Amino acid sequence: MSAAQSTKPARKALVIGGSLGGLFAGNLLLRAGWDVHIHERVADELESRGAGVVTHPELMDVLSAAGVDLSDGIGVEVRERITLARDGHVESSRPLPQLLTAWGRLYQVLRRAFPSERYHSGRQLVSFEQDAGAVRATFADGEVMSADLLVAADGLRSTVRQSLAPDARPHYAGYVAWRGLVEEASLSPRALSELFPYFAFGLPPREQMIAYPVAGAGNSVEPGHRRYNFVWYRPADRDTTLREMLTDATGKTWPDGIPPPLIRPEVLAEARRAAHEVLAPQFAEVVEKTPNLFFQPIFDLESPAIAFGRVALLGDAAFVARPHCGMGVTKAGSDAAALVRALEAAPDVPLALKAYEASRLHAGSFIVGHARALGAYMQAQIATPAERAMAERYRSTEAVMRETAVPPVPH
Ligand SMILES: Cc1cc2nc3c(=O)[nH]c(=O)nc-3n(C[C@H](O)[C@H](O)[C@H](O)COP(=O)(O)OP(=O)(O)OC[C@H]3O[C@@H](n4cnc5c(N)ncnc54)[C@H](O)[C@@H]3O)c2cc1C
Repeated sequence: MSAAQSTKPARKALVIGGSLGGLFAGNLLLRAGWDVHIHERVADELESRGAGVVTHPELMDVLSAAGVDLSDGIGVEVRERITLARDGHVESSRPLPQLLTAWGRLYQVLRRAFPSERYHSGRQLVSFEQDAGAVRATFADGEVMSADLLVAADGLRSTVRQSLAPDARPHYAGYVAWRGLVEEASLSPRALSELFPYFAFGLPPREQMIAYPVAGAGNSVEPGHRRYNFVWYRPADRDTTLREMLTDATGKTWPDGIPPPLIRPEVLAEARRAAHEVLAPQFAEVVEKTPNLFFQPIFDLESPAIAFGRVALLGDAAFVARPHCGMGVTKAGSDAAALVRALEAAPDVPLALKAYEASRLHAGSFIVGHARALGAYMQAQIATPAERAMAERYRSTEAVMRETAVPPVPH
């Protein structure tokens, strides 16, 4: 029943975190008749964050339900996957049509679908408490807000999760992802014809390059105005190489990830040099020509529970899978859809959240496990026989092309 049809006042929800997970939840709750407000710590618009995102049919369904008009187009379609050998020849190929979009584009369409007066930037949650009747959130500016439901969509380092499940901590996977976007117009004729039309892979020993075209500035999908996106995974030992990479020019180390403008020039130069040494020439050109090259350490995280009375964890706050399945955004959307379905089925909020947990806890663990298997090949250290077996399995181009950036299916 919508708020307009009901005689009772709409139930109140607070969503903490205004990135993609928070926007999915906010839009779906609003359309289910909730009086919902999103509170995002960062003061500026988030649109310039992120790079490419792989779409799956499930994501399109949630976007439609969240009120996004998909008729404008959301991305660029590719038809085939290829793996390039070190010398640049096509080592293997596989037909697999897929629609590829960009984080900024998804943020833009979800943000447009959500009323601005309900989206509060520069609002950091610092604490919360709950009893049988309500949950109360305290923000850094001192304001306290009360609601029937609090949705924690506050990401990998979730303040809410740290208070409710302090033992669920992110684990460094043993490797980093170098990322970037390059303008189509800046690429050579060779890279344009041999790389740009494809979802392309490179598999140097214990590394992995994945690259694909996405829309360009202003969401243009016009030939000549698109961009090429890449994610290049490289092992980095936590206590030596990674620590050094995460240290800025003032000597400060950023253990959770260094802001891209603070990455030292010599760290960037080393990545560009290594690209020429280990990658196919077409990929090395892309890395060389990327103006805003940056890297992120890869973490994974599993929460033992995602429903705590009137508080629900969702998206990266609940589970973070290594990015190999390309499921992070889709999972956040599916979590939000499951949460709203459960709230519609059971009027009692804590009971509905338990039903949400029952429907999503296994899915979260399963995606984390599958992505770990896909990534074992890149780990700086292989700790167990099981990891070694997984690393062997995903050494072959066929297995990598078949299972990367597609929804996982149980073996
Ligand atoms: C290298 C890499 C590649 C990836 N590639 C893909 C891909 O191809 N496809 C895909 O689907 N996913 C991909 N992902 C994952 C994807 O980015 C996330 O899974 C997805 O965006 C869901 O994030 P979220 O909204 O739950 O959390 P986040 O995007 O982390 O957002 C959390 C938000 O909460 C805010 N916040 C935090 N604390 C507070 C607080 N106390 N008060 C208020 N606000 C707060 C933060 O500022 C932030 O905006 C990738 C991730 C990485 C690292």
